[in-house]
Amino acid sequence: MENMYDVIIIGGGPAGLAAGIYSARAKMKTLIIEKGVPGGQIFTTSEIENYPGGIEGETGPSLSDRMRLQAESFGVEIKPDDITAVDLQGEIKKVTGMFGEYEAKAVIVATGAHSRKMDSKGENEHIGQGVSYCATCDGGFFTGLEIFVIGGGDTAIDEAVYLTRFARKVTVVHRRDKLRAAKSLQEKAFKNDKVEFIWDSVVEEVKGEGPVDEVLIKNIKTNEITTYKADAKDGMMGVFVLIGYNPNTEVFKDQIELDNAGYVVANEKMETNVKGVYVAGDVRVKTLRQVVTAVSDGAIAAVEAEKYIDDTFE
Ligand code: NDP
Repeated sequence: MENMYDVIIIGGGPAGLAAGIYSARAKMKTLIIEKGVPGGQIFTTSEIENYPGGIEGETGPSLSDRMRLQAESFGVEIKPDDITAVDLQGEIKKVTGMFGEYEAKAVIVATGAHSRKMDSKGENEHIGQGVSYCATCDGGFFTGLEIFVIGGGDTAIDEAVYLTRFARKVTVVHRRDKLRAAKSLQEKAFKNDKVEFIWDSVVEEVKGEGPVDEVLIKNIKTNEITTYKADAKDGMMGVFVLIGYNPNTEVFKDQIELDNAGYVVANEKMETNVKGVYVAGDVRVKTLRQVVTAVSDGAIAAVEAEKYIDDTFE
């Protein structure tokens, strides 16, 4: 079969690219299948300060571009495709996408996670009309306007500060009275004059004929709902929903073991419960989802896949 590989890596974020580098460098015929842009979630990250050895001004796109070039320099093939079915139980693993079928001796699942929605009234209707899940992608559209950032984790607080480059004012809406974000990020946000906080609150509704011009925020302790209207001269406002992620594992749910939240269960060798199937990055059960842990997973998964292939297919 033309599309037969030693290793297929599903997902081209940092975990998948690192797995690709290790796999191809070990002379295994390696394919990375990525449905979007190689780089995964970091492609939409504005600033990466904590990746060891990172250069000043490092952004998600700059780091992931270098990773991709490095993977390609070792001979990794990267194909765009959206995987719709997998059959991982046999010795030869079968992966089916919208554009083709692929086979491999080992598979590394590195599909990452996608943004969680608030499930508030009007949210879906206003995606791209004021509601956004990506500060780097859409921040510029809100230059001089007011922005609400929903969430209290690292992403929300990091991006709230980033969005002050564009916005007149950024209001963080968090469902508790304490942030989950790292202390260093909290400090940056607290000392930024443009950042305000609304505690113990969630978005009840997002409104607007066309772009968002009204946000209804509910205090979950008092049930009081407050309406925030865009200034007449602005005409619209931004709502950045940055409340975490859900794993991209729909296609694997009858094939490999997942936990209750849908993340892939693996041991420290990145082995799943199916022989020849490994996992790496944000999609697996783990405590710290960072680029540095994703690339580490990818390296381990590729090395273990190589050993498995050597032992099984001599
Ligand atoms: P997290 O899961 O860490 O945080 C999600 C936040 O959204 C929490 O504050 C949570 O509230 C809140 N939330 C969740 N669901 C809802 C909901 N339905 N309605 C309202 N609020 C909700 O996700 P992040 O995206 O912030 O981070 C994901 C991973 O990426 C983490 O491991 C993080 O460390 C990492 N990261 C690291 C960065 C860095 O180091 N610079 C930058 C960005 C991300 P509550 O606190 O009450 O649970």
